[in-house]
Amino acid sequence: MPNTLYDALFAPLQGTTRPFLILPDGDEISGDGFLSMIHRAAGALVACGVGTGDRVAVQVAKTPTALAVYGAAVALGAIFLPLNSAYTADEVDYFVGNATPKLLLADGAKAAALTAVAMRHGARLETLNADGLGSFATLAASQAATFTAVDRAPDDLAAFLYTSGTTGRSKGAMLTHDNLLSNARVLASHWRFSATDVQLHALPIFHTHGLFVATNIALLTGGAMIFLPGLDIDDMIRLMPRATSMMGVPTFYTRLLDDPRFTRELTAHMRLFVSGSAPLLAETHVQFEQRTGHRILERYGMTETNMNTSNPYEGDRRAGTVGTALRGTEVIVTDPATGARLPQGEVGMIEVRGPNVFKGYWQMPEKTREELRDTGFFITGDLGQFDADGYLTIVGRQKDLIITGGFNVYPKEVEMILDDQPGVLESAVVGVPHPDFGEAVLAFVVPLPGQTPDLAAIDATLRAKLARFKQPKALEILPALPRNTMGKVQKAELRARYADRFTA
Ligand code: AMP
Repeated sequence: MPNTLYDALFAPLQGTTRPFLILPDGDEISGDGFLSMIHRAAGALVACGVGTGDRVAVQVAKTPTALAVYGAAVALGAIFLPLNSAYTADEVDYFVGNATPKLLLADGAKAAALTAVAMRHGARLETLNADGLGSFATLAASQAATFTAVDRAPDDLAAFLYTSGTTGRSKGAMLTHDNLLSNARVLASHWRFSATDVQLHALPIFHTHGLFVATNIALLTGGAMIFLPGLDIDDMIRLMPRATSMMGVPTFYTRLLDDPRFTRELTAHMRLFVSGSAPLLAETHVQFEQRTGHRILERYGMTETNMNTSNPYEGDRRAGTVGTALRGTEVIVTDPATGARLPQGEVGMIEVRGPNVFKGYWQMPEKTREELRDTGFFITGDLGQFDADGYLTIVGRQKDLIITGGFNVYPKEVEMILDDQPGVLESAVVGVPHPDFGEAVLAFVVPLPGQTPDLAAIDATLRAKLARFKQPKALEILPALPRNTMGKVQKAELRARYADRFTA
């Protein structure tokens, strides 16, 4: 029996002398060289006592060896569990306790803090540092450069990806070989990836965007990646002339636009810029096209489902929308209260079904039942609306919906007006407790650099444009919005920070 994911993504690297990874210092790792790294890492996993079906938790810097551990886990049929490198030891304790991995791979700098975590949950601890060294690297170096992949069927688990937990405790989304492979295949063809593509890869590899979307596509199509350890604008600008494509979160695009070296000439040979993981401001989309001539292609997905919708490669890439359902994936909008399908044009819960949808949350059957219907539809928690051409617009998370005096306020409706006001870079609207209304609308604006928005004028505009119940009870200036590493605005943090704004 074959190994579904390994055979499609990693086996083809055999004998490939072309570069697969191009590093910022100019070093290159060929496809075959990377496969040897995978095999040695697989040998090291076995030496650490990891077997097929075991979990491997990995909280390390983004390095070629770290990526090879992903391939090694797939080859061995172990379940890869990457963790955000920003998590504290207390947070890692939760994940290790929840997933009970055989092995916890950590940066040497964190080993002291994580030893107790590993011991408490019966995991073995090995180190892999940002410089590629560490006890695991030493162990891998002594292993054979060949490894026979273990048989794995399409429905076998490949990875647990914990949700980013912006609204509660993280849950381990169980993703199968076929969840990952089917999505990579659809995306590679939708976005026209081929062996001639070189991706400028500056995303983290602990998240679905950088690991499964970007990396799996490069592997599947035999392309290469310029593999940057993180978001470094100097390196991105320096190396962009060698790339053909880039996937980024909106922050990448705003940061590049802030830099005068980012010009039309620099991007002349690029064929594709993809954005996702957080909403791209329509203004960024427009500015980017004015500066470079490229229209950013926005898509929509999440940890539990990989990618669901995308703007077209050829055809109309519409700013402010996330495009149409990907081939093989059904996307519907339903009444959040009843689950009944809503007519086109109405705002409701986005639900998704297809081969990309995960198998449930690890050891959380109740959460799984709440969010994954018997019919196979996953209730995403995102609210959205289809236009007449099937383009989906995301209105926001349901948990961010504000109910004030019994009326629903979609933050995005207010934010879109705020974003258009003079002197405003961006905005966030949240609901916070209010003694009369249950919740009150609270709005924040972030000024454009060097400008001071006229709050009284903005307030007057809001009053003219919005029904009274949607008008913010207070409007304040913030220097920046709180964001997580994927660029998502942390509305829960804003709500917590201003919880007693109207009750104190
Ligand atoms: P994560 O599981 O961390 O990838 O987060 C997934 C969530 O990010 C989705 O449920 C959406 O709320 C949000 N998201 C992803 N892509 C987009 C997008 N293009 N526009 C707006 N929100 C997005």
